[in-house]
Amino acid sequence: MARLVMKFGGTSVANIERIRNVARHVKREVDAGHDVAVVVSAMAGKTNELVAWCREAAPMHDAREYDAVVASGEQVTSGLLAITLQSMGVQARSWQGWQIPILTSDAHTAARILDIDGAELLKRFAERKEVAVVAGFQGINAQTGRITTLGRGGSDTSAVAIAAAIKAERCDIYTDVDGVYTTDPRVVPKARRLDKVAFEEMLEMASQGAKVLQVRSVELGMVHNVRVFVRSSFDKPEDIDPHGTPPGTLICSEEEIMENKVVTGIAFSRDEAQISVRHIEDKPGVAAAIFGPLAEAGVNVDMIVQNVSEDGKTTDLTFTVPASDYERARDTIAKAKDRIGYARLDSATDLAKVSVIGSGMRSHAGVAAQAFKALAERNINIRAITTSEIKFSVLIDTAYTELAVRTLHTLYGLDK
Ligand code: ASP
Ligand code: MG
Repeated sequence: MARLVMKFGGTSVANIERIRNVARHVKREVDAGHDVAVVVSAMAGKTNELVAWCREAAPMHDAREYDAVVASGEQVTSGLLAITLQSMGVQARSWQGWQIPILTSDAHTAARILDIDGAELLKRFAERKEVAVVAGFQGINAQTGRITTLGRGGSDTSAVAIAAAIKAERCDIYTDVDGVYTTDPRVVPKARRLDKVAFEEMLEMASQGAKVLQVRSVELGMVHNVRVFVRSSFDKPEDIDPHGTPPGTLICSEEEIMENKVVTGIAFSRDEAQISVRHIEDKPGVAAAIFGPLAEAGVNVDMIVQNVSEDGKTTDLTFTVPASDYERARDTIAKAKDRIGYARLDSATDLAKVSVIGSGMRSHAGVAAQAFKALAERNINIRAITTSEIKFSVLIDTAYTELAVRTLHTLYGLDK
């Protein structure tokens, strides 16, 4: 007997028939003797519709009311799943974020979970074997008493947080893919499903463009050491042995992974933009003068490259932002021109960032050098490079994304 969290995303609860399928997955685990908390997303497309309605009502709207509106999608699916479970003879009760409560910061539309009291859920497991069906994505701020939401994709984070609160043995994320792959199989058909990925690797993969899990959920899993298992919700519930090992990817601590590969996966994101600030005076405070206003404007800066000044007087500084932040970033730097003091702004859009990730890089030298050589042989120009302990990223023209990803996938032996 174990305590499990099962999370189902939007496509898995897209209609009543699929909700029934989810209920059968839940029943399977309950029948096997497990205590189960289920976390659900809104039905596929629902959150987008609710967001669009808010914008239609008023393009500039109160973030607290946006949260009140968009949290409703998960309220519906949690109630529907509880009804379906009850109709199958499984004891179940729905829980909204404010009822548990899931306490969050007051950063509406992107709130952070601060604390969850799992006592009531645990009590009901013990007393009545009751499944808790928790609405994902939402919480409540204790000071204001208002409903908050956790940012798009936030149900993953709700699930991991609930798992930590009730000390679950595992948090199963049921989704429309059957695990985490070495890279996107739509780009590299030879991509393989990974059996295990370390938290830190997954954190890099999710931050660098892999879309399986919300970044914050991985962070939370790492901090609280919650084992997260990504698996498919489309497998027939009856075909699965609740005591066996189903196909999927376990995200866990490095110690739990025996085989330590140098490169685990390749992530990429298209839609990057680059801005170069030319001939800035080379003196203390310049970086602050550039990145201060960008931070205030809410621009998400990623790679930063500063040239070493040749003459000791002026230098160039280049940085990248998501394409969606590009206009805002340019305007911000243009407005601060007098304060920064520079000669010219150059920029480029249609760029992609390709990242190679693997915890084995900690102990292996020359991993990135191999990639630079392979990309050069394909005539792919690298515009910027960044590295961390277990990752390096290159910025290239979008047109070369697929070629670059395939080249690196083969280079590091990730093809089947
Ligand atoms: N329903 C929310 C969204 O679409 C949260 C989630 O699905 O994780 O972003
Ligand atoms: Mg999701």
